[in-house]
Parts: sequence; structure tokens; C-alpha cells
Amino acid sequence: CGIVGYIGKRDVAPLLLEGLQRLEYRGYDSAGVVITGPKATGLKMVKAKGRVRDLEAKVPARFKGTTGIAHTRWATHGAPSDENAHPHMDATGKVAVVHNGIIDNADDLRAKLTADGIEFASETDTEVLVHLVARSQADTLEEKVREALRLIEGTYGIAVLHADFSDRIVVARNGSPVVLGIGEKEMFVASDVAALVSHTRQVVTLDDGEMATIKADDFRTYTTSGTRTTASPTTVEWEA
Ligand code: GLU
Repeated sequence: CGIVGYIGKRDVAPLLLEGLQRLEYRGYDSAGVVITGPKATGLKMVKAKGRVRDLEAKVPARFKGTTGIAHTRWATHGAPSDENAHPHMDATGKVAVVHNGIIDNADDLRAKLTADGIEFASETDTEVLVHLVARSQADTLEEKVREALRLIEGTYGIAVLHADFSDRIVVARNGSPVVLGIGEKEMFVASDVAALVSHTRQVVTLDDGEMATIKADDFRTYTTSGTRTTASPTTVEWEA
């Protein structure tokens, strides 16, 4: 339902929680956040069924990072629960994905992955995407995500964080909105400009079939087949 992401220098958890609150008006049944940072070893995640404030109450005192992605979920596959809340992670804890939309061939992919010995931690359609990214042998995170998306049928707005590529967030859009927010040595991503406008008015709206990599000081957009696209930020008008 709602996606927020940030990469920069600021304390990321409060920023993401604030972003999620700005998306609450869209409705949701659970929420979650995953973060990392220059000094963090691996990814740290918290999820909760219920409101953003229920999630906030579960965030430990030491939950520090400068990069992260967060989600409010409106369940389509699997009941509202802590386990089914996004982000979803692979068993090694290296890959985390948040997803808006519906993966139509999730049952088929789940059966194939299960036959290959992969254990699922949730009932969601989204989790297949996590395992597809995690088991890709590609060298770059962009290519791992691209390989996974090639196997997916359905709609998605996604954001992907990977512990081995923690200088970036990779996002993609097909039928579910993704907007980049361009800051000063910091970048934002969201499914809705409402989550960005308190930080930046410079935005790039992805098209269907488009992906992007955001780093603290840089962004680039390309198609799901890897061809670079040109994207110049536009200024959004917003009444505070
Ligand atoms: N289909 C996914 C799920 O049920 C994502 C739902 C959403 O867009 O929030 O977990």
C-alpha cells in the first residue's frame, strides 16, 4: 500500500516512521521498517500488525542507521499479521523488499522455490521476490532485481535493500506508483509525494517498466531491461 525509503546521513528510523504516518490516510493493516548504515553490520528490521504507532512502540532504543525502507501493508495475500507485514527478508537476512501490488504468478513461483528447498517465512506473494533476488548470481543489485522481475507477472512498486550493496536502494515500478525525492546529499523514495514533500519538492516520477538506483548523492533511472532513461526532476506544488 505505502512505501517510503531514505538514503543519506540522517538518523533514518524517525524519518521513515514520519513518512509512514503521512501515508496512513490511504489505509493499511500493518507496517514495518528495515534499516542499515555505514557502521551497521547487516540489516535491522521491525514489523508490527496494527498502526504505525504500534510499530514505533516496537522499535528498540538502539535502532540507528542512515539508509532504510518502510511499508504500510494492505493485505492481498495472507492475513494481516506481524509475519506477513513488509519488509520481507531472505533467510540469510541480506535482502529486504517492500512491495505494493499483486504478483499474479506467486503460487507457481512459491511452489518452484519450495521444491528447491527454500523455506518461506510468510504467506505473502511478495516473499517470492525476496528469494528470487537473494538467489540471483548476478554481480550487481540492479541485475539481481532485474532477473527477479523478469520472472514476475503482476503489478508492483518495490524498493530493495541489500546488505552487500548498502550504498544504494533499488526501486522499480509496474502499475503501482514510485516517486523519487531528490535532496541535498540525500535521496528519498515513496509511493506517494505526500511522504516526501516535507523534505524536498524536487521529484522524479517513474514510468511503468522503469527502475531506479538511488544513492545519497546520485540517482539514475533505466528500463527493466537495463537501458538508461532520462529523468529530470520536476518541482511539485504542495499546500502544507
Ligand atoms: N500483495 C502484497 C501483500 O499482500 C502487498 C499488498 C500492498 O500493496 O500493501 O502483502
